[in-house]
Amino acid sequence: MARRSMRLVEYGKPFQLTNEEVPTAPKGGAVVKTDYAGVCHSDLHGADGDFGPFIPLQVILGHEIAGTVHDVDPSADFKVGDRVMVYWTGGCGECKRCEVGQPPACLKNVKHWAGITEDGGFSDYVIVPDVRLLVKVPDTVAMDTACLLPCSALTAYNTVCTIVPTVQDFAKYSDDCAVLLVGAGGLGLWGVQFAKVLLPVGVRVICADISEEKLAAAKEVGCDEVLLWGKDVDDDTAVAAAKEVCGDLGAVAAIDFVNAPSTFERLQKMIAEGGIHALVGFFGVDAPAAVPLMPFVVNRHTITGVIIGSLPQLRELTALVAQGKVKPPPISHHPLEDVYDVMQGLKAGKVKGRAVVKF
Ligand SMILES: [Zn+2]
Ligand SMILES: [Zn+2]
Repeated sequence: MARRSMRLVEYGKPFQLTNEEVPTAPKGGAVVKTDYAGVCHSDLHGADGDFGPFIPLQVILGHEIAGTVHDVDPSADFKVGDRVMVYWTGGCGECKRCEVGQPPACLKNVKHWAGITEDGGFSDYVIVPDVRLLVKVPDTVAMDTACLLPCSALTAYNTVCTIVPTVQDFAKYSDDCAVLLVGAGGLGLWGVQFAKVLLPVGVRVICADISEEKLAAAKEVGCDEVLLWGKDVDDDTAVAAAKEVCGDLGAVAAIDFVNAPSTFERLQKMIAEGGIHALVGFFGVDAPAAVPLMPFVVNRHTITGVIIGSLPQLRELTALVAQGKVKPPPISHHPLEDVYDVMQGLKAGKVKGRAVVKF
């Protein structure tokens, strides 16, 4: 039995297909036979070298992983054949944050990230160093959906959780609150649904995107109103339109799933005094944006960055998906050999919903 993997041998170049021995479970860990691996924008940045040597050459990318336990440390609470998803952002495994399931906030800043710093899911088998990073997939959740939960869904969930206290506080005093989500792609569609579940009843969820098609998809999953930010829409027009839709306060919270300087600066003009602005997307890699300092202070804005989420949050959102309260985006299946081409399609904006590798 061999293990086929797609390895990153040079930044910006197609992956190399390799055949290797199937690994065995390390002490305290497991080997998962991959069923599905999601193709993510972060894979694209990593493969192109945007994150530099943080993504080492020869690594197997693919951090959105669902599969079945193939081999596992006998002391673990998992058995061969269990359906699992891999929580990919491991830490040192020893500090108090790692212990409570918050390894992205590891106190030692250790990053054992599957499919980023270490071999990931564009392979038949994935080594999981610590079984605490495995989460069982409920029977009612399809495996191609499950692979998306630890990345795009978890990030969207954590982001909505981040704005909840601010929005709750506004909602105590005003019955006309709106939150604004920028980017109605994979993350945005999860975000709209989580916002509808987690935010106080009556808070309006508004989406902005450059694509009418994506905005239509956002409406389908419960977004209340949309703003089309076409190339011809200048800042003044966009701000006026947002004020019209969000109401006099402006947006009490904004989530920027695009996070380019242009969207950042635009949102700063639309946020309510005392509002919160969560930055999520990676489109602005290395790009600085200007914060208007005086208005920032006077308007009591909060800016916060969000990356991924915790293991307890992953379990919470998985329960919501299992109960059918939140639906996955449309998913397309692709063979492992095509993964690099799929990524180029993603770069060109041609992927609808989420593309996943099917094994
Ligand atoms: Zn991802
Ligand atoms: Zn740690």
